[in-house]
Amino acid sequence: MLNLILLGPPGAGKGTQAELLVERFHLPHISTGDIFRAAIKEGSPLGQKAKVFLDAGKLVPDDIVVGIVEERLSQPDCQEGFILDGFPRTIPQAEMLDRYLAGADRQITAVINIDVDFEVLIRRLTGRRVCRNCQAVYHIVNKPSQKSGVCDHCGGEIYQRQDDAEETVRKRLEVYRDQTAPLIAYYRERGKLKTFNGEEPIQVVFDQICLALEEQNG
Ligand code: AMP
Repeated sequence: MLNLILLGPPGAGKGTQAELLVERFHLPHISTGDIFRAAIKEGSPLGQKAKVFLDAGKLVPDDIVVGIVEERLSQPDCQEGFILDGFPRTIPQAEMLDRYLAGADRQITAVINIDVDFEVLIRRLTGRRVCRNCQAVYHIVNKPSQKSGVCDHCGGEIYQRQDDAEETVRKRLEVYRDQTAPLIAYYRERGKLKTFNGEEPIQVVFDQICLALEEQNG
């Protein structure tokens, strides 16, 4: 069983590594950011509550997030393992997760911490563009679409997430530094932390993660 957490600042590549890990290990990928964006698109009550926080680059309150994650982790497809991406993001969220898993006689296998310099993140995030239709990710410099503003995969419209605007990006990084970075020490003290250099190419980071997981599982 692999119960994984992907930790790291926004733009570190957690989502990208999560997708590769899903392919390799066939585990459900739980991204709280994706859950909120889907709820906002639907216009559900959760979406209406969450939108204000996402647009401002602030964290959604712990009680809302925790309820959603517990509900998701209780579903049958998570019983053999899971990949959490973007959760936990605060110490209270991590404590809740530990309590919840302990209650089910389970625990976190490893916390994959992806480290990237803040200046690199600002360039990555402010240049990021996403397809409105299929969520494919582009970058104005590193990975532009063939035709400006149009998705290579589905022809959908490419747009900039509101929270990728520079001012919001700076706010998100500040929130990360103040509220999420303390989780590094939290998981290190519990012997769960494995840190990777997220400025390396995607495939290199992925290979290192797989190696670390294999070593851990013997
Ligand atoms: P992400 O796609 O992971 O960068 O998340 C986008 C936004 O969703 C964040 O800036 C927060 O507003 C919200 N969010 C996602 N995960 C959490 C979480 N674990 N706790 C609080 N807010 C979250």
